[in-house]
Amino acid sequence: MWNLFSNSKKNSGRFAPTPTGALHIGNAYTALLAIISAKSYGYQSILRVDDLDVRSLPQACLQGQLYDLAWLGLEFDEGLIEGGPHAPYRQSARFHIYESAVKYLNQKGLLYPCYCSRKEIAAFAPHAQDEGFVYPGTCRPKQASILDLDKVRQPREDGRLPALRFNTHAFRASPALAKKSYHRCIIYRDLVYGFQSAHLDNEIGDFVIQRKDGVYAYQLACAVDDYTQSCSLVARGADLITSTHRQRLMFDALGLNLNECPEYAHVALVVDETGERLAKRNRSIQLKGLREQGIKPAQVRASLSRSLGGPDTDQIDEMVKAFSWKQLPTTAVPWSLHNSF
Ligand SMILES: [Zn+2]
Repeated sequence: MWNLFSNSKKNSGRFAPTPTGALHIGNAYTALLAIISAKSYGYQSILRVDDLDVRSLPQACLQGQLYDLAWLGLEFDEGLIEGGPHAPYRQSARFHIYESAVKYLNQKGLLYPCYCSRKEIAAFAPHAQDEGFVYPGTCRPKQASILDLDKVRQPREDGRLPALRFNTHAFRASPALAKKSYHRCIIYRDLVYGFQSAHLDNEIGDFVIQRKDGVYAYQLACAVDDYTQSCSLVARGADLITSTHRQRLMFDALGLNLNECPEYAHVALVVDETGERLAKRNRSIQLKGLREQGIKPAQVRASLSRSLGGPDTDQIDEMVKAFSWKQLPTTAVPWSLHNSF
């Protein structure tokens, strides 16, 4: 079992934004939900920063996001500002933990190098899933083996660097590795959307664990962080509903107890007045934009509470008291400044 960084007993829920732009009302919706759902279970709330690809992220974004959350009155028990027992709270400061997980998976013979370009994969697998293409297994070896990671991470003769992929076939074939038998479909129960299933070959495939540029994959980092930060509850946007299958696979492949796997709650995405997904650049739905228009944080909180099917209040304690998963809308939540305030 991979237990180098065992988790503590205290349960938590988390909000984990990626600092790629200004926080908008959809992010605020998920942040508020993460806080009130965690509090309703008596859990700690954690603010984690998903900045895996730190080299490509503008530093100013993170400061702006932290300011926006504070302006809105959303306070976390633990995080970058507050500190806490699960530090560090930036993924960019946790690479050593991900590397130990990569080494563990490699020791189990569950990784292989993939030299395919995105274009090549697209040519073989034309059915795009929401997380890109399902990899057709072109580079999957017939026989699983332990890689010399230092050697494998060097460029090949043609200069190409490999991504490291998770070998779902090797994993499924080894009953010693998978505590339960994996068949074609894998399932979990979402707290909002109920049972979710995915076909291991057609919808999941051998996904990337570490990109060719060395960036650890979200699926690995997310599962590792949720475990090491004792997250028992993951409340996040419905666009990540299929990611959960991969993260649960990671839990299992790392030999972690699936009973310690978080419970997952996915929530309908906030859309604009025309039903389109919120565009990050649209200033009218950014918290900064709302602030500049003179909208008060209490107004935004109350509006978000109503959008979450909760009471007409700006008080977080009252939202927590009234909270139930059943209240949440399961269809897209239209956001309109005009209707909301
Ligand atoms: Zn390949």
